Amino acid sequence: MNAPRLDIDLGKIHHNAQHLVELLGKKGIAVTGVTKVCMGSPVIANTLLHAGVGGLGDSRVENLRLMKQQGVSASKILIRSPMISQADKVVRYADVSFNTELEVVSALSESARNAGRQHGVVLMVELGDLREGILPVDVESIMASVLQMPNIRLAGIGTNLACRSGVIPDAKNMAELSLLTSNLEATFGYKLDFISGGNSANLDWVYNTGAPGRVNDLRLGEAIFLGREPLHRQALPGLYTTAITLVAEVIESKIKPSMPIGKLAQSAFGAKSAHVDKGPVIQSIVAIGCQDIDPAGLRAPQGIRILDASSDHLILGSDRRLKIGSEISFQVDYSALLRAMTSPFVCNVFVNKQSHRFQLPPVAA
Ligand SMILES: *Cc1c(COP(=O)(O)O)cnc(C)c1O
Repeated sequence: MNAPRLDIDLGKIHHNAQHLVELLGKKGIAVTGVTKVCMGSPVIANTLLHAGVGGLGDSRVENLRLMKQQGVSASKILIRSPMISQADKVVRYADVSFNTELEVVSALSESARNAGRQHGVVLMVELGDLREGILPVDVESIMASVLQMPNIRLAGIGTNLACRSGVIPDAKNMAELSLLTSNLEATFGYKLDFISGGNSANLDWVYNTGAPGRVNDLRLGEAIFLGREPLHRQALPGLYTTAITLVAEVIESKIKPSMPIGKLAQSAFGAKSAHVDKGPVIQSIVAIGCQDIDPAGLRAPQGIRILDASSDHLILGSDRRLKIGSEISFQVDYSALLRAMTSPFVCNVFVNKQSHRFQLPPVAA
């Protein structure tokens, strides 16, 4: 089989998505399936929809376009603030976009009018993680302007935590979002339909909160694909952590000294390797490298250790020689998965398509 590759188990992805949809559904929260880590793969998008997600979110207009062109029928949200230079495309390929700048919403309004469409806007609020978001004190005046803009429908508000700074979504910041929602609704006499409280890092808060207040949507990627929450990278109960594995092929396996021979300067990626003299050791190479994965985000199978990586070589240590041509499977974290999906040298192989008892809708060529 082709290597390197990602073995993508659609049955496990379906299970994870369905489990989360049911669990959050009990609290009145819908799931937006976030497809950016799989480059908007239509096969995966359809799997998420079949599992019951309410809509799809992606950070790249190009991925939303791919889904639209391949006939994925769902509400599509651009979850990164649009580039103003892409306003026409945003209106064409996204039903809704997350926004923080009035100039951008104004450009979307103009594009939507030219295209004879309505475009939905969600205002993102800064609640402390210091990535995207309007400061809470400024939301009211921005909302007032957005409500005036032709061909724009204010769909709701949202926030994003735990991404840049690792701020934990908790009772306090989530209550702040709920209060803001109710205050804005009272001020403008306008119902905000979509209150998007965050990402997979919000699950701990959901599991431990009685009532989620006004929050009625979460945008989930990591929890669905990797079965983990991003705050401490703990496995989530009831979910598979093995839905996606990375497979690479052994191209060398030899006994070599554990210490380099000669004077040492920088290696290919600048860092000095940490060598410990253990005498001769078995060292193997699999054909994958920093161009394809984040080596720090891989977990090797039992008995194999990751020693180093350069652009195209991943160096492994093991107690037994690895057979040339054999395949090694690694668990991936979000960062390794993102890079592997994006590398043109790593192919995707979908496995276990039937296990969830549905036929994948045909994907147009
Ligand atoms: C990537 C992203 C998500 C999904 O995050 P996960 O931790 O993978 O669930 C949600 N919201 C925004 C704005 C994002 O950029």
